[in-house]
Amino acid sequence: MSEDAAFDAEALEAARKLFAREARFMMGAVSMSGLPDTELPEVAFAGRSNVGKSSLINAVVGRTHLARASNEPGRTREVNFFVVDERLRLVDLPGYGFARASKGEVKKFQNLGRDYLRGRPNLKRAFLLIDSRHGLKAVDDEAMAAFDVAAVSYQIILTKADKLKPAEVEAVVARTEKQIAKRPAAFPRVLATSSEKGGGIPELRAEIASVCEV
Ligand code: GDP
Repeated sequence: MSEDAAFDAEALEAARKLFAREARFMMGAVSMSGLPDTELPEVAFAGRSNVGKSSLINAVVGRTHLARASNEPGRTREVNFFVVDERLRLVDLPGYGFARASKGEVKKFQNLGRDYLRGRPNLKRAFLLIDSRHGLKAVDDEAMAAFDVAAVSYQIILTKADKLKPAEVEAVVARTEKQIAKRPAAFPRVLATSSEKGGGIPELRAEIASVCEV
């Protein structure tokens, strides 16, 4: 999955050790005034509802229930903060593209996500999650435009790669990389992951450790 070998074995091992340490839920914020201090580096996860965001965060920290699925009530309309080893934070942004939520409701938590992206000096990278089977959709364009406008460096992470054959995954990676080539704030490398089978998770951990400089 990482044929361009972005990280050597040492970096992958260091990242594995980092994420084997304690990860805890810190807090959920419902408004900008409720955000925590900016002392630790953060990476944020965004994506359509049901893209596999909770599963991916759980896979990264090696836990089954830290982040909750968006079809569960409660935390999912908030910006949720998880602290890893008291050294960095994973930030779970509200999912977009909800079919069942009202328009006003959708706006409310999308605005919060957008405000977070604009006003967060310690945000090192946003990960935009895309279902491997679907690739980029119009609704994802809006998210990318928001990142580009906010000048937030973002990387596309394909989820559920186990649902495709390896050659198909490679094709989606190549196609997606082509589609984002002209996006100003997009990181050029697209990473395919499977929370279920573990593919790409060591590389994602290494990306996080690298951008957070821990
Ligand atoms: P969220 O709404 O973005 O937080 O998505 P969830 O993490 O709740 O996942 C949505 C659905 O996709 C659930 O039924 C998961 O079991 C499934 N899913 C998530 N990640 C994977 C994966 O890597 N592989 C497969 N096959 N299914 C996945």
